[in-house]
Amino acid sequence: MTQKLRRLLFAFLTAAVLALVPATSAHAMTPVFGHRYQNGVGNVVAWINYSSGAGNWQWYITNATNNWMYPGWSNPIYVNYVSSNVGSNLDFHSNNDAYFGGGMTIIAWTTFFSSTGAPLDPTLSDWYYAEVHINNDVYSSPSISNDMALGTTIHEVGHALGLAHYNSNPYSIMCQTSYGRVVQRVQQVDNDSILYLY
Ligand SMILES: [Zn+2]
Repeated sequence: MTQKLRRLLFAFLTAAVLALVPATSAHAMTPVFGHRYQNGVGNVVAWINYSSGAGNWQWYITNATNNWMYPGWSNPIYVNYVSSNVGSNLDFHSNNDAYFGGGMTIIAWTTFFSSTGAPLDPTLSDWYYAEVHINNDVYSSPSISNDMALGTTIHEVGHALGLAHYNSNPYSIMCQTSYGRVVQRVQQVDNDSILYLY
């Protein structure tokens, strides 16, 4: 084999390998809404609405934010709990099923707001604070294991941080349980999206 041919072959193989890389990395990150916390995640001020009953879920809530702070991969997240929601960025509420007319099957949901309290679409603009709402009735159901309840709380905090659903990957915390999520903690694909956003 001539040196020229060898170089050509090497160039071809390199091109073939590089062609594979974008396709792989495009699927290696949890989807994001497109926007994020306007002040970043280095000092997320969190508040638990005890009067709503969210104190019942305090163990899940604090373990959920701890899992985002220390998932096993580094990231800039720091969450600090305070006793007032004045200026807080991450509020946890418990909602009674009856408030919505009963029969709710959704476990929890997250909503996004500006600094003045205007609701925001996280696909359109950055947010100052997010609210995680936990459905008291569904959470109390014996069909949900403690580990899944924790996984669901971690999933909702993931939304608050800017992550969208990754239902094609059951090995992401952002896969919905109804799509067969098999993990209940932050995974590397989820942490990679935090690093991409912040
Ligand atoms: Zn979700």
